[in-house]
Amino acid sequence: MRALISKCLLGVACRYDGGAKYCNAVVDFANKLDKLTVCPEIAAQLPVPRPPAEQQGTCVVYKDGTDVTQEFVDGAQQELLRTKDFEPTIAVLKAKSPSCGVDRVFDGSFTGNLVLGDGIFTQLLKREEMCVVTEEMLEDVKPSVEHPVAIVLGTGLGHLASLVAPVRRIDYHDIDGFPMSAEPVSGHKFEATVGTVDGVPVVVYPGRIHLYQGYSAAEVVSLVRHAHRLGCKDIIFACATGVIDGNATPGLGVLTDHINLTGANPLADKDMLRDLDTPFVGMQDAYSFYLRSLAQGVAKDLGIKLQEGVYAGTLGPSFETAAEVAMLRSFGVSYVGMSTVCEVIMAHALGMNVLGLTLATNDAGDPTVNHETIRIQAEKHADDFERLVRGVLHLL
Ligand code: SF4
Repeated sequence: MRALISKCLLGVACRYDGGAKYCNAVVDFANKLDKLTVCPEIAAQLPVPRPPAEQQGTCVVYKDGTDVTQEFVDGAQQELLRTKDFEPTIAVLKAKSPSCGVDRVFDGSFTGNLVLGDGIFTQLLKREEMCVVTEEMLEDVKPSVEHPVAIVLGTGLGHLASLVAPVRRIDYHDIDGFPMSAEPVSGHKFEATVGTVDGVPVVVYPGRIHLYQGYSAAEVVSLVRHAHRLGCKDIIFACATGVIDGNATPGLGVLTDHINLTGANPLADKDMLRDLDTPFVGMQDAYSFYLRSLAQGVAKDLGIKLQEGVYAGTLGPSFETAAEVAMLRSFGVSYVGMSTVCEVIMAHALGMNVLGLTLATNDAGDPTVNHETIRIQAEKHADDFERLVRGVLHLL
């Protein structure tokens, strides 16, 4: 996988003050992949040290008022040219900078205030639809014993749990909110494993309960709340789905977004307010662009075909009618299934970084499909699925 990385985050003394902003999480990440280091301000041949600069509207000015917009644009364009030859998947740039900032930059008052907006270089990269993040994202997603990665597995994908070097096991029935009477359906096992996969701290939940079994949305998300209480900041959901012919084909996919057609929402429950300040949660970026991009980069490196698309979550348990499949196709849906949406809503509301992976096992609405055929198909792709998840864990 290839990534662009701000030079100053790797310890190069190229900042305005003559220093660097060495970041351990970025250096660790950079050591695991092919990197191209960038510094648009050095590319513009600005001196080191130089006066601090901030964005004022569409301009960039030094603290003494000198307009250096053209220099910043020239430097950004030069770095963009190098970027195109390199074909990176991700850019990791220094937060808040008028060149490299992502989503928030200093407001031009030189008081430390921030405004919404991107640095000049970031704007160019985003126009190319690249995933651009700051060092803050890498620090946030980095797993540790205190912050293991949660992995929730669906039908036929539960054997990933066998990769875990276990430290302890947790019976689901000991988890707050999980229904005592719930028993696993075929292919599921109701015991979480805390441990490591390839040295990365994880908590694996190798099965789940569903709305279609008569459980409430609050019960369905009890595993997500448990993972959050354990300290997990990243959560990977894996589910088997049907594919909407014309929008995707059977095989592995990464979820970019969802449409909740279950008629249920875990946040519409007064008990949820124990964990949340407000139930009115924006869902714009529920599926982390950064984690999706990592998955795509890993898949490319490993030669695994990984599509992406929107997931529609239905109540089930009946499969889709022909009219429903036609409707989902017109909605731009690629995958349809009976899990995941409530869990993603809960995880996003709790501030967790979500990666949604799916194995599309069959055409949606196929009358020959049943739980057993889905499980068999899922197991055929188990090897690629495992390699993909391990590859993502390695890069976190
Ligand atoms: Fe760092 Fe970017 Fe500023 Fe260069 S332009 S010093 S890489 S923040």
